[in-house]
Amino acid sequence: MRIDIITCLPRLLESPFSDSILKRAQQKGLATVVVHDLRDHAPNKHRTTDDYAFGGGAGMVMMIEPIDNCISQLKGERTYDEIIYMSPDGDMFAQAVANALSLKENLILLCGHYKGVDERVREHLITREISIGNYVLSGGELAAAVVADAVIRLIPGVLSDETSALTDSFQDGLIAPPVYTRPAEYKGWKVPEVLLSGHEAKIAQWKYEKSLERTQKRRPDLL
Ligand code: SAH
Repeated sequence: MRIDIITCLPRLLESPFSDSILKRAQQKGLATVVVHDLRDHAPNKHRTTDDYAFGGGAGMVMMIEPIDNCISQLKGERTYDEIIYMSPDGDMFAQAVANALSLKENLILLCGHYKGVDERVREHLITREISIGNYVLSGGELAAAVVADAVIRLIPGVLSDETSALTDSFQDGLIAPPVYTRPAEYKGWKVPEVLLSGHEAKIAQWKYEKSLERTQKRRPDLL
């Protein structure tokens, strides 16, 4: 899978993809993340990508031309399954959306900044809009990193244990059970006995019961 992220602040996206799971996914050739600096696609030598809003009002608006130039260039190179604008009023991001996107081959994530992008970008240049929650960020970069992370970790082979992503919260409609590691006792606080028993079936049953219990308690809406 390839994810192209378009931003006017590429530095904000340097670290999320250069460590741990997302870094390894790229090293293994399972995912490619390419960050594009919108200023490279600005039509003038000042590399301007934003301007005042028509009709007045506070805040700058991202211009359509650099965005169109960048998207057109990318579309000339390959076919994109989705061109997604990160937007607080877009479709709500959730595990099911991540699952669906992880099956795609090429995605573009467009990050807004300031007051957002010229409305004509949303009308003519993108295929969908995604929000990561009902709050407003200063830019789409962190939202794009969230989406890319959630999607890339689902690609087979990215997580070392093949079943790992399947046992995470939300995948089977349940919240993940609690997890423990050594020491088996700390300050008198003990790990549940069954987990130390080595009895696979009993452990699986315990995990399922805890998942159910936790979901009932914390997220009854999922049941
Ligand atoms: N004026 C806009 C907010 C702009 S915030 C409004 O009121 O709706 C600047 C940029 O941050 C947006 O263009 C978008 O790309 C990104 N952004 C902010 N909140 C977001 C969220 N919850 N999910 C996804 N992207 C978001």
